[in-house]
Amino acid sequence: MIRWCKNCRYPTKNKTCKLCNNKTEPLSEEAIPVFMHEKIILSYLLNKDVTSEQVWNLGRNYYLINGERIVVNYSSILNNEREIEKIRENISNYKEEDNEEFSNFVEGNKQHLDEIIMEANQYIKETVSKYENYQPVVSWSGGKDSTVTSDLVRKTTGNNTILHIFGDTTLEFPTTYKYFEEFKKDNMFTPFMATCSDKNFSELCDVFGPPSRVMRWCCSIFKTGPISRSFNDTIGKKILTFYGIRKSESASRSKYLRTVQSPKISRQIVSAPIIEWSDDDVWLYILSEKINFNKAYKYGFRRVGCLYCPNNSMWSEFLSSIYFKEEYKKWKEYLYTFAKEIGKEDYIDYVDTGNWKARQGGYGLDNSMTKLENVECNLYENAQNYFMKKPITKDR
Ligand SMILES: [Zn+2]
Repeated sequence: MIRWCKNCRYPTKNKTCKLCNNKTEPLSEEAIPVFMHEKIILSYLLNKDVTSEQVWNLGRNYYLINGERIVVNYSSILNNEREIEKIRENISNYKEEDNEEFSNFVEGNKQHLDEIIMEANQYIKETVSKYENYQPVVSWSGGKDSTVTSDLVRKTTGNNTILHIFGDTTLEFPTTYKYFEEFKKDNMFTPFMATCSDKNFSELCDVFGPPSRVMRWCCSIFKTGPISRSFNDTIGKKILTFYGIRKSESASRSKYLRTVQSPKISRQIVSAPIIEWSDDDVWLYILSEKINFNKAYKYGFRRVGCLYCPNNSMWSEFLSSIYFKEEYKKWKEYLYTFAKEIGKEDYIDYVDTGNWKARQGGYGLDNSMTKLENVECNLYENAQNYFMKKPITKDR
């Protein structure tokens, strides 16, 4: 639970504001900073200029704008290219530099941040010394959680040369590739191993159909599989992987342990320094330590992952249609073609309402032809992953 100081106007963990000593009031489960790009979109949706207001997202489409709770509705303009083009224009016309002001949030929560950093430092030190024969690596995705984890691990160990692994699915947001280049430039001494599948996503879609929430064949092929192979091929010894997983990301993750033997990749201990951190803790760290982060968050995305993930929210798809126009268009056209092929008469509706994501099966998922092994997905626990046991051939 995060609270709000009416007087100083910022979300805080404290019952008494550290800045003015007034009592704070309960606000929400989470409060996420909203940056200029998203404010421009909100201004369009609300038909009211909120670009100079202080805006926080309180989860889903609930916002706190200038201290007032507001629900923002965007469903009416989903897939409406004319309206979306207007939003793009508004964004490109906005000349002013980012003028985000988070100093109260940073100052008022300083003590809390110091405490959680100290605790994480202690944990990382203990873990590194407990597994001293293991090679420490950081699993880096370009998302905010792994960005913070990387920073914590490097600062705690005083070692900038810890190997970072980027499991490039080849389907990452364009902003993630840009951020990857920036990160490497800013951290010249940090070695990176980018792993990548030799499979082609669109070819696999032709075989399996697009990944759906229950038939998520993509994650293991494009992420865990290549990472595991690279580990086996290039790193001889045991590995201690730090990654940015957090309990608050999903209910089923709440059972996760902080340090655990990896169920997916053998010879590996996985360790989650920020497992107990909330979203606002992560933002507090990023804004206080002035760390560069993936621009997707400035655009309004809450999660950074694959462009075509069936677990992406409607909001995420709405933003993709604004920012990643070409990629979005290509994917939509593919889905329409797919829906027609499987005999959906209302194929536009089937795709636009997101019904394709709920698909239980799909062509190509014939167990006699292609053996698939069902494993829990490493990114989203409600989904299942399918490992291929036999190589895929198109002429089944
Ligand atoms: Zn105050």
